[in-house]
Amino acid sequence: MKTLIFAELKEGKLSSTAAELFTFALSLGASEASAVVLGETVEEAAKELGRLGAKTIYTFSDPKLKFFVDEAYASLVSKVIAEAKSDLILGAATFTGKALFPRLAANLKFPLVTDVSKVESNSPPVVVRPSYGGNVYQKIKLEKTPALLTARPKSFPAARPDLSKNGEIKTGAVDWPSLNVRTSVLEKVKEEAQTLNLGDADIIVSGGRGLREPANFSLVRELAAAVGGAVGASRAVVDAGWIPYAHQVGQTGRTVNPKLYFACGISGAIQHLVGMQSAGIIVAINRDKDAPIFGAATYGIVGDLFEIIPALTKVFKEKLGR
Ligand SMILES: Cc1cc2nc3c(=O)[nH]c(=O)nc-3n(C[C@H](O)[C@H](O)[C@H](O)COP(=O)(O)OP(=O)(O)OC[C@H]3O[C@@H](n4cnc5c(N)ncnc54)[C@H](O)[C@@H]3O)c2cc1C
Repeated sequence: MKTLIFAELKEGKLSSTAAELFTFALSLGASEASAVVLGETVEEAAKELGRLGAKTIYTFSDPKLKFFVDEAYASLVSKVIAEAKSDLILGAATFTGKALFPRLAANLKFPLVTDVSKVESNSPPVVVRPSYGGNVYQKIKLEKTPALLTARPKSFPAARPDLSKNGEIKTGAVDWPSLNVRTSVLEKVKEEAQTLNLGDADIIVSGGRGLREPANFSLVRELAAAVGGAVGASRAVVDAGWIPYAHQVGQTGRTVNPKLYFACGISGAIQHLVGMQSAGIIVAINRDKDAPIFGAATYGIVGDLFEIIPALTKVFKEKLGR
């Protein structure tokens, strides 16, 4: 089974999802993986893809490709798909993947399975994806190829690069007028939380309505600083305008997979749980012993967060010296 991996760049560097997609490809029974990468400059990323095991690396570099532009990316990746003749075309279920892959599926009339979190078996591939906000899991058998699939970030361990490997790099021409691009990205403005990399964070401290008022988010921020983590939030407090949307964890926010997740004053509604329940260790602080969050928690602390969070912050500051 031949696979083609759409590798994303983040701030000009290869995104960590690329290495995860090589593991995804292997678990789907790939005998061979190639990759495609687009950006302003792609040389370093192309070499890294070679070290990750890509046999052929298709590259397109142009200043106009610095930002993801739906039409341009879809046209260029479609060309590579036609040339590479792969059975499976894989991408990450990121903002870019979620925009690009449905467009590719529509252009090429290929089947598409989005948001894969697990591979059950291969030949033929059977994959698992969450549905209805994670309340049910669908098992999908791929009966025909070529097919497109996106994988949830952090669902597959990152493949390790092998420094002795290098793939063949094929550089494609970017003929901008022929790409029928109707939009262009003028500027990208970073949201506050993007600088915190919620999606990549190993530790997240999230706050909910139990904090009572926006000013009390300082408690969550202080604990996050003490443990070296990022700040997350429930939708209730985002909707109330206490903290920007980029911090929201859950069905309509970010899906996160940290090693350690603190849920402070968060009830644990299913829409929140689907975004964080795969965290390695979940510590829940809630004064209601029957709060659903305790069903997902590794450690539950029943009590008043206004006492518990400062006490934890103090201990972590002492132990970790931050
Ligand atoms: C379509 C849809 C999509 C949604 N998407 C999301 C999403 O992406 N993310 C998300 O989070 N939600 C989402 N929601 C909303 C979700 O259903 C809940 O309403 C929300 O998660 C509740 O937020 P919360 O836990 O902060 O607030 P609450 O449910 O009000 O919980 C507050 C908790 O704080 C505890 N508490 C209060 N005071 C203290 C104290 N002093 N000490 C300790 N504990 C205390 C309470 O016991 C309670 O459990 C979505 C809903 C819908 C319908």
